[in-house]
Amino acid sequence: MQQNIKKIGVMTSGGDAPGMNAAIRAVARACSYYNIKCVGYYRGYQGMIEGDSVELTARNVKNIISKGGTILKSARSIEFKTKEGRKKAYENLKEEGVDAMILIGGDGTFTGGMIFSKEYDISVIGVPGTIDNDIFGTKFTIGYDTALNTVVEAIDKIRDTASSHNRLFFVEVMGRDAGFIALNAGVGAGAEEILIPEEDLGLDRLLESLQRSRRSGKSSSIVVVSEGDKIGKNVFELAEYVTENLPDYEARVSVLGHMQRGGKPTCFDRVLASRLGVKAVELILDGQTNVMVGVADNKLLVTSIEKAVKGKHTINKELLRISDILSV
Ligand code: ATP
Repeated sequence: MQQNIKKIGVMTSGGDAPGMNAAIRAVARACSYYNIKCVGYYRGYQGMIEGDSVELTARNVKNIISKGGTILKSARSIEFKTKEGRKKAYENLKEEGVDAMILIGGDGTFTGGMIFSKEYDISVIGVPGTIDNDIFGTKFTIGYDTALNTVVEAIDKIRDTASSHNRLFFVEVMGRDAGFIALNAGVGAGAEEILIPEEDLGLDRLLESLQRSRRSGKSSSIVVVSEGDKIGKNVFELAEYVTENLPDYEARVSVLGHMQRGGKPTCFDRVLASRLGVKAVELILDGQTNVMVGVADNKLLVTSIEKAVKGKHTINKELLRISDILSV
């Protein structure tokens, strides 16, 4: 155990994700367990630049494990992308006596952390917190499971209307660069088609598939569309295109939007966040820096932040095949 670590900082950055609070709690409590001081920075890197912080004790993180969002708030800081911004952040950390930072966020957050730790002698440890699940070096990110369950629940409800009115629904879900949410929630909610950024299934194939569904006796259908799908039309244009080409269908669009980020974290996310938060503190005490802690095969996994940023977490394309078979 490194004896020279006296104070650890923690922050949440990028898009908020359910379970971030459970991770903050785990960091604060692990610090308390190991007799280290803990300080939370508000609004990610922006709070570090402004010196906007709060002492975190074992007691003042009570009752947050079940709360969505992040008590430390999150932000996207343009200033941290500049040398001057990072210098200010460093000076504030030094003044506060912070020896290491735990960064809870996505790949943008880790990129910033990587640059920061190359410029200054601050240890940084990444904890993957994003609903998108698009981080290399972990099978699951904090918030993804909750978002999936939220989306499945929403699609189940939309399905009630779709089947009552014999309608076709296009449901847009989050995922500009990765289709994890669309693919897994699509299979989980029994969608007829799933459109994701990783695969362009093509408009013709979509029309064919919907026609096949009609012929096989289906009176309603759900198409789950990832924000960043590659079909070349946004979800509204897509619905219009399908209605023009398949006049039998009455199409509607539902954009789930920010409701996918919110809500109470699932037990899975709380446990994941608790494990990753404790491990992040322990990694610092072991003298590690510039690494991210993730999970795979139910075991904790440590990856260099550089690899986490540069690597690609790929979707399981087998699920597309499963979805095809099941939407017969
Ligand atoms: P999400 O996946 O939810 O979007 P994220 O961590 O990828 O989360 P970003 O907005 O991309 O979210 O990044 C968060 C913050 O990290 C940025 O607002 C910025 O302050 C910092 N950051 C991102 N890229 C860099 C960079 N190249 N240099 C310095 N800081 C960066």
